[in-house]
Amino acid sequence: KEQHLRKPEWLKIKLNTNEHYTGLKKMMREKQLHTVCEEARCPNIHECWAVRRTATFMILGDVCTRACRFCAVKTGLPTELDWQEPERVAESVRLMNLKHVVVTAVARDDLKDGGAAVFAETVRAIRRKNPLTTIEVLPSDMGGVYENLKTLMDARPDILNHNIETVRRLTPRVRARATYERSLEFLRRAKEMQPNIPTKSSLMVGLGETKEEILEAMEDLRAVGVNILTIGQYLQPTKKHLKVEKYYHPHEFMELKEIALAKGFSHCESGPLVRSSYHADEQVQSAKAN
Ligand code: SF4
Ligand code: SF4
Repeated sequence: KEQHLRKPEWLKIKLNTNEHYTGLKKMMREKQLHTVCEEARCPNIHECWAVRRTATFMILGDVCTRACRFCAVKTGLPTELDWQEPERVAESVRLMNLKHVVVTAVARDDLKDGGAAVFAETVRAIRRKNPLTTIEVLPSDMGGVYENLKTLMDARPDILNHNIETVRRLTPRVRARATYERSLEFLRRAKEMQPNIPTKSSLMVGLGETKEEILEAMEDLRAVGVNILTIGQYLQPTKKHLKVEKYYHPHEFMELKEIALAKGFSHCESGPLVRSSYHADEQVQSAKAN
């Protein structure tokens, strides 16, 4: 039988929910919208939605054409494109009075443009209705077709985020179809297309990587101009997913953050519960100040 590590104390937290949250959940269902906050049962949901006024929407459906071994999103053939989705997202951002919104999408390898047109339209629709809200986009590699990335960058998001997820050696085991090199190239091109838009990436730790490999990933990201880095603990969503090889101590996360800042990232969030979108509101400010 497989040995599973015990969850350390600092990860045993209760979901903090209240009426405000229940109301927002209801709105999401009415508008047929999906948030990563809910689907990933993110422990930060109360802090993000009610206090920081941040949320992460997942557009282009809730079925992904890929099956990454750390991710709990359903795999299959997605339904058709919904051109009304951008307006519904924009309206929800308004109703939630969000200061910062993250828009991510499942990988739509079934579509020629990888969903880029709807993605870009979502950015524009949010901007029209919510001129003060900062917008972060978190696309997949969009099939490695840089025209798709350009469509998205032309909508001028405030931050382009693309997750490298793990170190080079573990990428084939952890991610489906995506490659380490292609993600680096994606980030490099984004910077080239719009040098003033900060780029961001994220690493999950606890999948069996070594410290040297983490440092190498940091250097690779800096070499393609990435400004912001988030580092969080990988948690196994179900028994079918990759198991956790290590729980990092909060001190280790702090040390990684210091290293990241020394390597030149303008902002780094690093901690057991840090998710790609955690404290993203602060990152826009610091990236703009830089
Ligand atoms: Fe949502 Fe991200 Fe906040 Fe979690 S950290 S609640 S996924 S915005
Ligand atoms: Fe999950 Fe994204 Fe991988 Fe799809 S491409 S399985 S949504 S991590």
